[in-house]
Amino acid sequence: VSVAGERDARSGGSLLGWQLLGMALFLFIPLVLFLFVRHPEPVGVSLAAGVALMVGHRFLARPYMEAVRTRKCLWCNGRPRPQPQGEVLPLLVGGRGGADAAAGELVAVVCSRHRDPAARFVAFLERARLPLRLGIFAPLLLLLAALVAAALGERRWLDPAVALFQGLVGITVNVAAFGYLAATAPSSGGGSAPARVPFPAHNFFLLGIRNLLWVFRLVGIWWIVVAVLFVLGRSR
Ligand SMILES: [Zn+2]
Repeated sequence: VSVAGERDARSGGSLLGWQLLGMALFLFIPLVLFLFVRHPEPVGVSLAAGVALMVGHRFLARPYMEAVRTRKCLWCNGRPRPQPQGEVLPLLVGGRGGADAAAGELVAVVCSRHRDPAARFVAFLERARLPLRLGIFAPLLLLLAALVAAALGERRWLDPAVALFQGLVGITVNVAAFGYLAATAPSSGGGSAPARVPFPAHNFFLLGIRNLLWVFRLVGIWWIVVAVLFVLGRSR
């Protein structure tokens, strides 16, 4: 083994490699959304493939999170600064009360100057978890129900369910992406308890939160426009 190879093995591969792998794992999410929103024929196959990818994704994304959570900044997706490892940001993950086997504390690293936005974002997610969860999961359940109905031959609910999904999810992700800016930062240090991430935490490690929020803003606004155009087209 060469010296360079040894160094790479010790640091666990190059940062670029981990960033590219994170992007590849992130692409599962738009693929699932494509299968649900565009539902290529036959609809039943698109639905089954989307659900299988959605359920299976965590088995790749969780080990990825474990591998990168002390290597990349959770906020900017780069090497945590100052070297060697920036600052730690403890987070609570999983369900309350410890009934969930995956519940516990998770330590991420962030750049010193990215600790505040990352902590503020997670604290906002926790505080706004009920409307945010409702804004994602209610339209998702309706869309899945409409896809099942369409697969069984009843298609009349499908287009409205897609538009409702895009509109409500578009609004919700924009609330998350802009809302945290208005939220007050939790006191750093000073014994404040770590915030609890109310969504599967591994999704925030794939691109870093800052990049993810730009995807939320841009795709969210696009989807809101699509939903409004659907409503206008119906009322004509
Ligand atoms: Zn950073």
